[in-house]
Amino acid sequence: MKYCHSCASPLIVKIPEGDDKPRHCCENCDSIFYQNPKNVVGTLPVYGEQVLLCKRAINPRIGKWTLPAGFLENGESSLDGAIRETKEEAGAVVTVKENNLYTLFNLPSINQVYMFFRVELANLEFSAGIESEEVALFSENEIPWSEIAFPVVKTTLEKYFQDRESNKFPVRMFDVHHEKNQNISTQIISCSSS
Ligand SMILES: [Zn+2]
Repeated sequence: MKYCHSCASPLIVKIPEGDDKPRHCCENCDSIFYQNPKNVVGTLPVYGEQVLLCKRAINPRIGKWTLPAGFLENGESSLDGAIRETKEEAGAVVTVKENNLYTLFNLPSINQVYMFFRVELANLEFSAGIESEEVALFSENEIPWSEIAFPVVKTTLEKYFQDRESNKFPVRMFDVHHEKNQNISTQIISCSSS
C-alpha cells in the first residue's frame, strides 16, 4: 500500500499514537489503513459415500485438488460465501443441514482464517467453473492424497473420513504455522464435544 485511499498522498508506515503496531498512515489527511487477516470460506460437499473435489486451474497449486473455497466478500455471511464459492468453482448446488461448521484454521503466517462447512450435493449436476480444470466425486479410497492442494484441505478430508466412522462431526479449530524450512505444522486448538 503506497498511496492514501482518501486523498492519494503517499503513505508512511509508523506506529500511530495509542497503538502498538506499525500501520500505513497518511500524514496529509490523518487516515490510518489497517490490514487484517482475510477470511477464506469453503465447503466439504458430500454425495452419499463420496466427496466433491475441484482440480485447480489457477495458481497457486495449479493442477492440484482442493475443496471449493474462496475469499469471503464484504456484506456476506461465512456460510453464504462458502455456498457461493461452491456454485462458482464447481457449478454445484448444495443442501445445508444443521451443525454445518466443521473446521476452522488460523494461518497467522499468511494472515488468513479458513472455514469449511459440511454440505450435501443437492444433485449430480456440477461442472468446472473458471477457476477449476475439473470437478469430480471421490470415494475415500480414491482421494488423490498426494495431489491435494493445501494442508487445510487435507486435514479437513482426513477428519471427515475419521468422523464418518462414528457419525459424529465435532467442530475443530487448528493453528497452522508455516515454518522457516517450508514445513507446515497443523496443531489442534479446540474440538467441540458434539
Ligand atoms: Zn490521506
